[in-house]
Amino acid sequence: MEQNFVERMDKSLSELKAGIISNLIAGNEDFKNIVEGMDPKDLADVASDDIDRKMIEAIGSQELKQLKLIDSALTRIKQGRYGLCIKCGKHIPEDRLEAIPYALMCIECKTAEERRNR
Ligand SMILES: [Zn+2]
Repeated sequence: MEQNFVERMDKSLSELKAGIISNLIAGNEDFKNIVEGMDPKDLADVASDDIDRKMIEAIGSQELKQLKLIDSALTRIKQGRYGLCIKCGKHIPEDRLEAIPYALMCIECKTAEERRNR
């Protein structure tokens, strides 16, 4: 995976994450207090694992799920494994990552998983 592309995805993931968190802050007083208590350098530094413990009741599970995916993707960038499917290890096409920067699986594995969950 090209370094430029990964850096661009890293940036858009951080922005996406900060956006979700600031939306949650705007809509939820409890959440705001908790985030302020964490005193993050910037919103993208808020760890979704901490959110899990303290805020699961304050925020919707949909947002939490998305934040966790974003954190996983950011971790995989740090590990140098971004863009590789977590199931089969194949490269995830760049256009899929452009559309969903936090995609962790290739379309084949994702489809197979959704079929299993149904
Ligand atoms: Zn796969």
